[in-house]
Amino acid sequence: MRAEGIETVRRILCVFPRYTSSFGTFEYAYPLTDGVQAFMPPQGLLLIAAYLPANWPVRFIDENIRPASKEDFEWAEAVFVSGMHIQRQHMNDICRRAHAFDLAVAIGGPSVSACPDYYPSFDYLHVGELGDATDDLIARLASDPSRPERQVVLRTAERVAMTDFPIPAYELAEVKRYFLGSIQYSSGCPYQCEFCDIPGLYGRNPRLKSPQQITAELDRLLECGVTGSVYFVDDNFIGNRKAALDLLPHLVEWQKKTGYVMRLACEATLNIAKRPEILEKMREAFFVTIFCGIETPDPDALKAMQKDHNMMVPILEGVRTINSYGMEVVSGIIMGLDTDKPETGEALLAFVDESRIPLLTINLLQALPQTPLWDRLMRENRLIEDDSRDSNVDFLLPYDQVVDSWKKCMGVAFEPEKLYARYQHQVDFTYANRIKVPVTPEQKSWANIKRGLIMLRNIFWKIGVLGDYKKVFWKFALPRLRHGDIEGLISVAMIAHHLIMFARLASVGHHNASNYSIRLREAAVPAE
Ligand code: SF4
Repeated sequence: MRAEGIETVRRILCVFPRYTSSFGTFEYAYPLTDGVQAFMPPQGLLLIAAYLPANWPVRFIDENIRPASKEDFEWAEAVFVSGMHIQRQHMNDICRRAHAFDLAVAIGGPSVSACPDYYPSFDYLHVGELGDATDDLIARLASDPSRPERQVVLRTAERVAMTDFPIPAYELAEVKRYFLGSIQYSSGCPYQCEFCDIPGLYGRNPRLKSPQQITAELDRLLECGVTGSVYFVDDNFIGNRKAALDLLPHLVEWQKKTGYVMRLACEATLNIAKRPEILEKMREAFFVTIFCGIETPDPDALKAMQKDHNMMVPILEGVRTINSYGMEVVSGIIMGLDTDKPETGEALLAFVDESRIPLLTINLLQALPQTPLWDRLMRENRLIEDDSRDSNVDFLLPYDQVVDSWKKCMGVAFEPEKLYARYQHQVDFTYANRIKVPVTPEQKSWANIKRGLIMLRNIFWKIGVLGDYKKVFWKFALPRLRHGDIEGLISVAMIAHHLIMFARLASVGHHNASNYSIRLREAAVPAE
């Protein structure tokens, strides 16, 4: 479905802001690829682009790939921006540049929906999901695209049902420039972890698309040139277990039909380990990675943050179970919790060793607006507004001690020897459990072979010849080459390189200790 009944034509420029350098966006891997420049196509902005009236020309610019130019702004009649808190400065910068061309600028997405106050300069604030506020915005721009005299705040009261969502306008994005493809099946999560803003923003009763919408989206992604990995951006893939079970047979069928052209990944709670019927179907659908917010191995801390569901099976056992279905676990970890002790860092490093999880995003606790944590810390007078800090939380342990502990964990957990040993474990005990998928004509095509050769050349040269951890690399790479596992080698080498490089800089204070920190270490996108 898309907005209808609008006669006037407006040219809309959708601009997605740059990310600040972050552990989870893999930018140190990009130079090893054949031209990747950004992480994932943004679902929200491409959805809005697809919802606009069919006769409205839309231009989509992802500033992680190239900045919006003078010509783009001169072409447009209005500008749409969307993003997360971490992109706040860049969003405000886009607004400033658009205003230089006297264009009306509207902002939507998770950050403005949680914190409208962050965006005083924008002309239109779109608070909430796709719905009546979107129709109102379109109608206002249709009748008058000029900047309103004062800021207009539009709040969605009636959301468009996800079953009526159009396919995001993937065709507007340069999909080959992205590290991963993205897709969304559901929105919302039934849990209420203290630090998380998802239930507050999107509700506790997950809303869903239909399986047919998802397979149609996969078809569209394929048509647009996406092969390789596609990430379900759902906050919790098993937020509605029945819905996950309904979808999975369709995914299996789609994969069989297309020759398993995509490797799938998602986010889910660790208690998925208790659901063998889901895990088995995910294995069949060629899910290869699950991001689980393990947060901490400390049971007291999990209880305190209302994440008891992580303890429905012992954590290490849960990780092993998921691995036994061929899926690697990626884990989110939080430091700076009230339950942390001076020895928490050591306990975390012991957990990293034992779990054999290669990729853990380790962040300092950050209180997000619209969360129970924010409310509690506000009551306790423990929220600190100071951009020079890596967190807005007044920790119970001294701040410097928490940050030093984080730096140490980053430095040690991602030492090349340790990281590659964890990957070797995955090769032996996780990847070996995956279904054997056929080699597709697409994989055998010259274009794909050329792509692989470019990546291999980059990896061999930049890591195997020039790299300072080349011995560790070759110890892993040679057996992979002997097994003919080129794809596996490329995938591990790229991710590992990013983790090693990012963690090295983080351990000496060159990266933020929180994904959400608004502290910026890069210059804003220059105005054109
Ligand atoms: S399970 Fe995940 S998405 Fe759900 S509330 Fe907890 S952290 Fe948020």
